[in-house]
Amino acid sequence: MDLDKLRKTAAEVVSRDDVKYLIGWRPGSYGYRVAPGFVEEASAAETLIFSPLCTINLATYLTLTEKLPLPRGSAPDQRKVALMVKGCDSRAVLQLLVEKGIRRDQVLLIGCPCPGVVDTALLSLKYPETESPADLKWNGDHFLLRQDGQETAIPRLSVLAEKCRLCRYPNPVISDITLGEPVEAQLTAEDSAVAEVEAMELGARAAYWEEWFSRCLRCYACRNSCPLCYCRDCVLDRLNPTWVNRAVNFSENTAFHVARAFHLVGRCIECGECERVCPANIPLGRLNRKLAREVREQYGHEPGIDPDGKPFQAGFKPDDPEEFIL
Ligand code: SF4
Ligand code: SF4
Ligand code: SF4
Repeated sequence: MDLDKLRKTAAEVVSRDDVKYLIGWRPGSYGYRVAPGFVEEASAAETLIFSPLCTINLATYLTLTEKLPLPRGSAPDQRKVALMVKGCDSRAVLQLLVEKGIRRDQVLLIGCPCPGVVDTALLSLKYPETESPADLKWNGDHFLLRQDGQETAIPRLSVLAEKCRLCRYPNPVISDITLGEPVEAQLTAEDSAVAEVEAMELGARAAYWEEWFSRCLRCYACRNSCPLCYCRDCVLDRLNPTWVNRAVNFSENTAFHVARAFHLVGRCIECGECERVCPANIPLGRLNRKLAREVREQYGHEPGIDPDGKPFQAGFKPDDPEEFIL
């Protein structure tokens, strides 16, 4: 993508009277890190980037930063929030619109067709990062890494994020302004990570999840980074009744993960943020993608692609499969 065009467009957008600020990506302060950039002044648009390091799904901030209640005596600022979105991010926005979590006139979407982002952990494992902020570019079947005055060509598939290998919607499904040319969807590879768990016999599968869930710290980073975990009154925080105990052990951790997975059935747009931020490296994507695939195959429903769609859990068709109901 032409960065000059991106920055010029962003400067124009934040200069509009009906826009309060723009959320995009900017270089972080260390190595491969990229941070969310909140741009209020046209001059600050110069800091924005769009690169294979822009993994963060910024849609999460739509519900994080605009939380009510307002300080007493202040009126809500009704101006729009402008947001840069990749394909998966735009699905999160569309799902939020379908659920009426946000209003269409509250957002202005700058769509960024996306050739795929890197798995930052894998990248730093294979190409150890240094302190100075790195620059990474798309270049056909390679990424070009520039850091400390050196340029390295990295085979694309060696560090591509797992979600991007499976991506069906690399182009924004909804946007007001689109930057750059549409990219072709990757040939959707078989989800070998999910298939691996499915192939286990029941006892082995239970042991697999027991091992992972036992490692969970209950830091809730997965919940907090998820664009679709935005309930103001989360069931996990409730004390009366206490649905999930505060104790960090396999039993309560499992209750947490099962509750969260079921609350995301037919809503998860497979952006992979929950797994990316997990400090315990728990493969949450395998759980979420399995459920997403079941909903797609059994009920023909895919969240975040149909602006006129209805929330999955609020719908019912007389011929819905039900053979699993006891
Ligand atoms: S899942 Fe698709 S849209 Fe999202 S980062 Fe990967 S390639 Fe881009
Ligand atoms: S981010 Fe990982 S460790 Fe933290 S609560 Fe979620 S699964 Fe557990
Ligand atoms: S559950 Fe994970 S993959 Fe699904 S929308 Fe939330 S953060 Fe993205």
